[in-house]
Amino acid sequence: MAAKPNIRSLSQEELSSFFTERGEPAFRAKQVHQWLWQKHVRSFDEMSNVAKPLRAFLESHFELLHLNPKTVQKSSDGTVKSALSLHDGKVVESVLIPKGKRMTACISSQVGCSLDCSFCATARLKMARNLMPDEIYDQVVEVGRQAQGHFQTPLTNIVFMGMGEPLLNYKNVISAIERITHPEGLGMSPRRITLSTSGIAKMIWNMGEDGVRFRLALSLHAATDEKRSRLMSINDSNSLDMLSDAVAGFYQATGNRITYEYVLLRDFNDSDDDARALERFCRRVPCRVNLIEYNPIEGGEFKASSSARTNEFIGILERAGVRVSLRRSRGKDIDAACGQLANKP
Ligand code: SF4
Repeated sequence: MAAKPNIRSLSQEELSSFFTERGEPAFRAKQVHQWLWQKHVRSFDEMSNVAKPLRAFLESHFELLHLNPKTVQKSSDGTVKSALSLHDGKVVESVLIPKGKRMTACISSQVGCSLDCSFCATARLKMARNLMPDEIYDQVVEVGRQAQGHFQTPLTNIVFMGMGEPLLNYKNVISAIERITHPEGLGMSPRRITLSTSGIAKMIWNMGEDGVRFRLALSLHAATDEKRSRLMSINDSNSLDMLSDAVAGFYQATGNRITYEYVLLRDFNDSDDDARALERFCRRVPCRVNLIEYNPIEGGEFKASSSARTNEFIGILERAGVRVSLRRSRGKDIDAACGQLANKP
């Protein structure tokens, strides 16, 4: 027997046509849509305002898939990491990062990653598959539950910085963001969503052409091609010049300021010259720099920069007028920090 389709792979219009073709009133699609995307039911039987025979009919035609929390770990600093099982038994990780009133969900876009950034633990997992829009959406719902449960506060921000390269799963990520921002979905402002990419120039151009309203972060990590290619082989085919052009195109098309992520690695990319190269890269479009404290990974070749070196680096950028912030590492004790997601128990 052929597998039943996932009901949440249907667009709102497709769901409406499904019901009208069966002679159901128009409001039926709206009701079911609400159960699926706002009330997050896990079975058709929970759709209490839908008549039983129709629930049974839906059950016989569609799958209703959901994520199952496998493990939840809470760090001493409040960060919560969830390992979530997908319907096919694969596992992704999502992280809640609380900071004052700000509750940020760090979301994965793929199971594993096909890229090989040398500072990242996810790179060691084989790329298994892209996540579907509902699987991306459900991570946000699940992390939102964690925020309410642990801190009685709703989510305020979403960052696509978990497992995977979101621009290599562009269609599904965009579709999930449309649902997340839609008033009949989670109704979040796109301004509170940041997509972080390792830098695929062509896709950054595409995002600009698509007029996306969320924010863009580029994982830069080095401002010379020689060093960046040593960290991220994606730089061999997407050089800094190509990325600079793409980011400028994105800014021109959307007016969205760019964030450059830069992980400070001792004696590799933290010298005065490195800071000056970064400052030059920053001149092209309005931007800010997020410096990230490095979280060593098992068997990794890098170490974190010292505090003194970090301060010197920040000073050079600030004196040149670059807006810069330092992101302290969060959730290190549970391997939930940046670049540490690797499905480790
Ligand atoms: S940093 Fe991101 S793109 Fe690079 S290997 Fe890790 S998950 Fe993939």
